[in-house]
Formats: sequence, C-alpha cells, structure tokens
Amino acid sequence: MPRTPHRLAAGVALLALAAAPLAAQSSPFAADTANTQIKSLVSRLSLDRYKATIKGLTQFGDRQQGTDRNRAAVDWIEAQLKSYGCTPTQRITYDFQPRPRRPRPAGQRSATRRPRQSDFGAGGSRLRGNRGPTGVNRDSLKQPDPQIRALDTPQPTAGQRQEVYCTKVGTEHPDEMYIVGGHMDGLGWGQAANDDGSGTALVMELARVFSMPDVQTSTSIRFILWNNEETGLNGSRAYVEQRAALQGKEDPAGSGKYPEPKWLGMIQHDMMMFDHGMPDANGKLSKTQRPEADVNVEFQSTSKFAAEAQKLAWAFRDANEKYATDYPASVGPHMTNTDSSPFMDLVPAISLRENERGAQIGAGWDPNWHQPTDLYSTYSDDDFRLGLNAAQTTLGAIATLSGARLNK
Ligand SMILES: [Zn+2]
Repeated sequence: MPRTPHRLAAGVALLALAAAPLAAQSSPFAADTANTQIKSLVSRLSLDRYKATIKGLTQFGDRQQGTDRNRAAVDWIEAQLKSYGCTPTQRITYDFQPRPRRPRPAGQRSATRRPRQSDFGAGGSRLRGNRGPTGVNRDSLKQPDPQIRALDTPQPTAGQRQEVYCTKVGTEHPDEMYIVGGHMDGLGWGQAANDDGSGTALVMELARVFSMPDVQTSTSIRFILWNNEETGLNGSRAYVEQRAALQGKEDPAGSGKYPEPKWLGMIQHDMMMFDHGMPDANGKLSKTQRPEADVNVEFQSTSKFAAEAQKLAWAFRDANEKYATDYPASVGPHMTNTDSSPFMDLVPAISLRENERGAQIGAGWDPNWHQPTDLYSTYSDDDFRLGLNAAQTTLGAIATLSGARLNK
C-alpha cells in the first residue's frame, strides 16, 4: 500500500521522537523499551530449573500444615534459599488451633460439590458458561499410588507453626520493600504440585536470581513462603498481625538495619500452571493447555488500596509484554481467597494465577484443584511453561519497581 501523506507525517514524527533522549519512554512500541539488564536477569530463569524446584517440593507429598511432612518441606525450602545466598533466612512462628469440622450426616461422603447454581462467585466475580465440579478431596482411597497415599496419611496436630522468608536488601532504600509470596502448604491426597508447588517454586526461583552476587536493587524485596493458606490464610494473617507495626523502623537505632522495611506492595502467586479453558457441557476439561492460556493478574476493587493495586496490576501486565516469552497476562478486579487478602487494606496487593480465582477456578476450570491428581506427573511442559511465564512477569515487574541492575 502506498504511503499516504498522513502516514509520512507520522513517520517523520516518530523519527523526531527517536532523536529525542526520552524517545524510549514515549514510544508506542513496548518491546523497544525493555531494559537490557532486566532482560538478562529474566533469562536466568529456565523451564528446567523451575520444574526441578516443583519436583523437589513434591517429595513432601501434599505438605499439609501441621504435619511432619510440612515441617520437613519448610526445612527444605529454607536450605534451598540459603544455598541461593538469600541469607539470613528467618521464620515467623505462630499458633494454629483448627476449628472442628462439622460432622457430615450419615451416608454422605461428598468429595466434590456439584457446580453452584448461583451466577455469582468469590471475590465479586460473575460466573458464566459451563461449569465443572469443585471441592476438596478427603478420601485417601482416591489416591491410587500407595507411596503418595502413605506419605499423605498422617493428619495435622494443633499447635505451633512456622513459615520461612528471606530478603534481598536494597542498596538505596533498605527501609522499603516489595513482598513476593506463595503458599507452601497443600491438601487433597496428591502432591500439591500446582497448588501451590508452582507458586512456591516461582518465589524460590526469584529469590535465587535476585540473590546472585552481581545483582543490586534500590529497594528491598522479601521472598516468603506462607504456611496454613489452605486453612484460611492463617500464616499470612499471622505475619500481618506480628509485623505490620514494625514497618520502617530502624533496629537497633543507627544500625542502618530495618527488620521490617515499609511495605510497598504485596504480590501473591497461587496455582500457576493449568489453563485448559472452560469445561465442556459435561464439565470435562481439555487434556492440553489452551494456546490462548494467560497469566491472570488480579486486584480487589473493594480494597482500600484498589486504585494503587490496579496500577500495580497494570505494571505487571506491562512487564509481561516486555519480558515473558510465551503467554500474555490479563488484569481483573476480583482478587480473592489468597494470601494477598490480609494485606489489601494496608498496602497495594495483587495475585497472579493460571485463571481468575472467582469466575474460572471457582467454576471448575482446574479439575486437579485439591484433588489426588495434583501430581508432578499430571502436567506437560506447556503447563509448566505458563508458570515460568508468570515467573518472568513477576521478575521483570519487581526488577523494574525495585530498580534492579547488574554490577559489571
Ligand atoms: Zn492455593
């Protein structure tokens, strides 16, 4: 097509912009604005490493809170963080007393709920289209592998709980930080590979990259693996209760040390791998990752920091466009049922997931959710790659926001 005078004029304007020093900032072409140092940081993530970290977590079965396998997983995660140089590692200690579950009427052995008839889902979402079953499996016999069944058999005891974190200390602003989290506990008589081995491994992989000796950041970043998410966000609530008031305080005075830097934002990762689309009319899912799979970034439109959280979510979408290799990101307003919730009225908070929690996961888009099939062997490389793309998204966004650069 011949160039019209209008197009010529636009071309000249672009050339003029290119000559100006701030051209990159105002260019409409996102890819050109990618920061080469951040690109290089993102390239330190790999599918093989991400998969290996998830595999490592699945050796502890479903990692249900309040069990020895859960405590062993916390120890293992801590050892990995140390080996990455993310030191010192620290732990939050809290007490957890479960509320007794209501006994089921005789004869009722429900493992899965029938799809809800209401159009409205969690977090203010609206459910549309076909639905599949959801619910938590509590029947050991649904796990066909005797080794996994045996591993998942010991049940929780009430009492002390711990969760581990480590911090990349900022060079210019050690008193401010972003919190990057995932939950390490699971349930359902499987291996909790996706829920939430996939989010836990993402956080661990970011801790590894940011802890490399040639990486500097302006603000601090805390990497934390919550416990007790599945019982009602008790681990993240304990963190908020114990540490919100300590924000930004230098301790000891004059030391330049800030045990709890001021919170700039909280980013949660929960179920990162499975986006096979909507169930069919019979509630069944496609066997393969859909080519349109995306990373769902959600904020909560009813939270106190909704405007700032929304801005944060769009910054993540922007980072996805610049740094993620395969899958795009979408932004939605119904963040819910995850460890960013206890933070959302104190600080901008978002979650990243494979699907929207309310409208999609809540409508049965993930048939392995809290089921014995949430095993490492269930997922294909196309599934694992969606989690890797979420890692690239968060790494790119947090590197940008924290002012990351490489020492030459
Ligand atoms: Zn989860």
